Amino acid sequence: MPLTPVLTSRFAEPRSWTIETYERTEGYTAWRTALGMTPDELVTLVKDSGLRGRGGAGFPTAMKWSFIPQPTPGETPTGPAAKPKYLVVNADEGEPGTCKDLPLMMADPHALVEGVAIASYAIRCSFAVIYVRGEAVHAHRRLQAAVAEAYAAGHLGRDVHGSGFDLDVVVHAGAGAYICGEETALLDSLEGRRGQPRLKPPFPAVAGLYGAPTVVNNVETLASVPYVVRGGSAWFKEFGPEKSPGPKIYSISGRVVHPGQYEAPMGTTMRELLAMAGGVRPGHELKFWTPGGSSTPYFTADHLDVPLDFDSVAAAGSMLGTTALMVFDETDSIVEATLRFTEFYAHESCGKCTPCREGTYWLVQILERLVAGHGTARDLDLLTDTCDNILGRSFCALGDGATSCIASSLQYFRDDYVALLPPDEQGRLGRTLKLEP
Ligand code: NAD
Ligand code: SF4
Repeated sequence: MPLTPVLTSRFAEPRSWTIETYERTEGYTAWRTALGMTPDELVTLVKDSGLRGRGGAGFPTAMKWSFIPQPTPGETPTGPAAKPKYLVVNADEGEPGTCKDLPLMMADPHALVEGVAIASYAIRCSFAVIYVRGEAVHAHRRLQAAVAEAYAAGHLGRDVHGSGFDLDVVVHAGAGAYICGEETALLDSLEGRRGQPRLKPPFPAVAGLYGAPTVVNNVETLASVPYVVRGGSAWFKEFGPEKSPGPKIYSISGRVVHPGQYEAPMGTTMRELLAMAGGVRPGHELKFWTPGGSSTPYFTADHLDVPLDFDSVAAAGSMLGTTALMVFDETDSIVEATLRFTEFYAHESCGKCTPCREGTYWLVQILERLVAGHGTARDLDLLTDTCDNILGRSFCALGDGATSCIASSLQYFRDDYVALLPPDEQGRLGRTLKLEP
């Protein structure tokens, strides 16, 4: 297997964010190579590499690109194929515990800009937007500087490197709403409206920005693309498992000796990553952890050897999500941690659909009651029942994600909830919940 670091290989370079450093370390060579290929050849190369989206869902990148309707040669285009195409970078990283795209944009912004250029060419788009999280003013400035440098060096603009291909890239700041990381809410926000998810289908690939075909890709996904072009699909596939290969940035936070970003191949286990991070703080034991942020079901010490790739994590009952590994030890209350996450979802719920808007509010009420020691035996069933009425009934993934921490904490640590009940309520456990008529 080839060695990491790949995506973070420039992080330690002096002034790693400048175009001088980037070009000195083979930067923009992939862009020149790509311009010598046809867009279809590029899509095939990325498809062969097995690259899957790093925003959380793991959708195959080249498949998404190939969904963009293209005109048939020799025919007058009609419908979506006749419209302009857009590339939108989802740089609205907001999943609790996730900190991989921001360091990438700060330390190596040109890797993203080069990935944007290659992806735009592959989908035949001449206008790309990088939508950055509102609070990340520093990343917004850094990207603007990188885009300006790329224009000045001739990597963007009219007739790039004499290829006849035009590309404009704009960096846009969001306003700091978690829901604007959902791709269609992001598009609404970009169009100047209140960011709320749209009904899917149609997917953005058919009707996205201004109703035109749009690819929405995550920062880490696009920053991986220049390496695929430079190293080739066979090289990229050597990192990790066949069905979800590639180098990956894992954010490790919480009760570890050295929290931070760690790059390792897909499929690396939590046990191996914990060792890289110095282990759980001395004198303490791992209790639970998230494989992909707070929207993914918790894992426990029993899951330390699950390979962290999309399929293996799903098979073990959770989701790889954003590879945000939040580590909790025996001093942490899982009910309190779950309350904090649920408060976050209730606050960030956009309010469009009832199950999520009302359900997350009531979940907070129940969890607060339990944490305060005023819970009832009925509350445990009520939590499950409320989650059941949110999961699969919400308009977007936020509602579903809000139930993950509650359902999995009850699955693995029900006793911790029971311990918070007053003694007389503990005696009432086991009765079936009766809903009021
Ligand atoms: P999804 O599975 O619905 O879609 C994934 C991508 O594939 C989207 O771009 C979608 O447009 C595309 N797609 C799926 N089916 C398609 C089809 N038939 N035709 C065309 N395109 C298609 O997932 P999602 O709701 O976009 O994202 C959910 C994920 O987001 C979760 O797994 C979660 O981990 C992650 N997430 C990430 C953050 C973050 O900060 N990065 C925050 C919250 C959630
Ligand atoms: Fe809005 Fe929540 Fe419904 Fe998503 S699930 S549309 S965030 S109310």
